[in-house]
Amino acid sequence: MDLIRVKNVEKKYKNGVTAIYDLNLAIEKGSFVFVIGGSGSGKSTLIKMLYREEKPTKGQVIVGGLDVARIKDKKVYKLRRQLGIVFQDYRLLPKLTVYENVAFALECLGERKDSIRKKVLKALEDVGLKNKVHNYPDQLSGGEQQRVAIARAIVNNPKLLLCDEPTGNLDPEKSLEIMKVLEDINKVRGTTIIMATHDKDIVNKMKKQVITLKDGHLVNFKQKGTYNNEAN
Ligand code: ADP
Repeated sequence: MDLIRVKNVEKKYKNGVTAIYDLNLAIEKGSFVFVIGGSGSGKSTLIKMLYREEKPTKGQVIVGGLDVARIKDKKVYKLRRQLGIVFQDYRLLPKLTVYENVAFALECLGERKDSIRKKVLKALEDVGLKNKVHNYPDQLSGGEQQRVAIARAIVNNPKLLLCDEPTGNLDPEKSLEIMKVLEDINKVRGTTIIMATHDKDIVNKMKKQVITLKDGHLVNFKQKGTYNNEAN
């Protein structure tokens, strides 16, 4: 079953730049997909359209049966509850502990304390950080901070995890640790993962599905892809 369908999507920004041209994609539930391409090829724009940070100027983006561009502003939470997002720069709240960062969204949803505790500890276990619950973000390495951000993104067990250059600030060794964590989440929880990246080594090692964008055009969508030259 497809979790995501992108149909004839164009995205033209207000300054006249077209970031995505006539894009069509179908992404199955449970997939692990890399989105690759040079800087400015449209990777972030595609990710942003999936969580309704941007709306397409033409066509449709369907996520979990929701027509993303047509959701009323008041109802965007319905989409956002189905997905988690991880950014290059972690975006943790500096004055909250690891536990509090991961628990924050669930507390805002008004969940019971014992249910929050279970979910937070499970998410932190899944990213290998159960021993750091009381630390603050500035007491952690970059790789650890990113793992907290991943725990926060998966704590409510979303169907979809969107990652925009999650290893962009990390050295190759830490990057591989992040990829192991993401691969486990995909396998064990069945979470669909879409990850925009520049990182050739990672894409080549992981042998996942690869969407290649170039200047806003889809070049190809391969099943067990590598970082092909068409991405440059
Ligand atoms: P990538 O993530 O592959 O680097 P982006 O999706 O960020 O690519 O950008 C694709 C194109 O859209 C680029 O030409 C970029 O300058 C342009 N762009 C991105 N965001 C905006 C924006 N908010 N307003 C105008 N142009 C934008």
